[in-house]
Amino acid sequence: IRVKSAEIFGERVQRVGTVVVLEDITDLKKLEKMRSQFVANVSHELKTPLTSIKGFSETLKFVQDEKTRNKFLDIINEESERLTRLINDILTLSSIEQAKAAKPEFIDPVAETEKIYHLLTPRAEAKRIRLTMQGQEGLKAYCDRDNFKQLVLNLVDNAIKYTREEGSVNISLSQVKESLKIVVEDTGIGIPDKHLSRIFERFYRVDKARDRAMGGTGLGLAIVKHIVLGFGGTIDVESEVGKGTRFIIFMPIQQDEDVQSKSEDLDN
Ligand code: ADP
Repeated sequence: IRVKSAEIFGERVQRVGTVVVLEDITDLKKLEKMRSQFVANVSHELKTPLTSIKGFSETLKFVQDEKTRNKFLDIINEESERLTRLINDILTLSSIEQAKAAKPEFIDPVAETEKIYHLLTPRAEAKRIRLTMQGQEGLKAYCDRDNFKQLVLNLVDNAIKYTREEGSVNISLSQVKESLKIVVEDTGIGIPDKHLSRIFERFYRVDKARDRAMGGTGLGLAIVKHIVLGFGGTIDVESEVGKGTRFIIFMPIQQDEDVQSKSEDLDN
């Protein structure tokens, strides 16, 4: 609690009272703490690949064996790619937070989702995963086109990433009352109950080592959540370990102009 006080004087410079204002700054402090935690996390996440790159490139000049040299070069390359993904995700998250960049317009959500479907089909095929989609005809949504695509991309990309070979991933779009409903479901590894409420936090991973090895940055779902809230929508997740995961989004088809700026105040 922050205390501000001022004394009140009467006409003949006589103190008649004091005004005390108590301001609850718990939320401010919490926000500050979250921000500094985020900076600490970012620094840590950036440092890890950089340390590898530095270590392996320094050692490279002492290694004669060609096979070992190639292995080191592969690691340096992979870690540089991780750095690029991290920086891209951090920039995406910060541009979504500054909701001013969002340009809402009427889009055809099925056509936009089909683009992502085609983009990710090779990745699904490489794991022999059956990727399917259904879209109700004539659907519309009023939102930022790039954010919409990013949202679908992140969810479907995760679904493919966390599903074993020969599994399946399905995307469906339909209208429920005044909302667009998007469901992305997979027959993947699932998420244990105790982690479900935390997966939308920045850098939160169910299994740190495994999920890092999958190439993830830990920011994908934080980006998704920010986009959905910016659209004035909701996101839910249902999952069963070993069976699969289902993400369900509802977003208004037509929304108030000022909703887009809502996500500015939200952390995580
Ligand atoms: P990452 O970049 O590590 O995938 P995300 O923010 O996209 O990070 O997801 C957070 C964590 O939630 C992941 O590390 C993973 O453990 C879990 N997760 C996300 N999507 C799925 C899914 N479809 N199936 C199983 N686990 C998932």
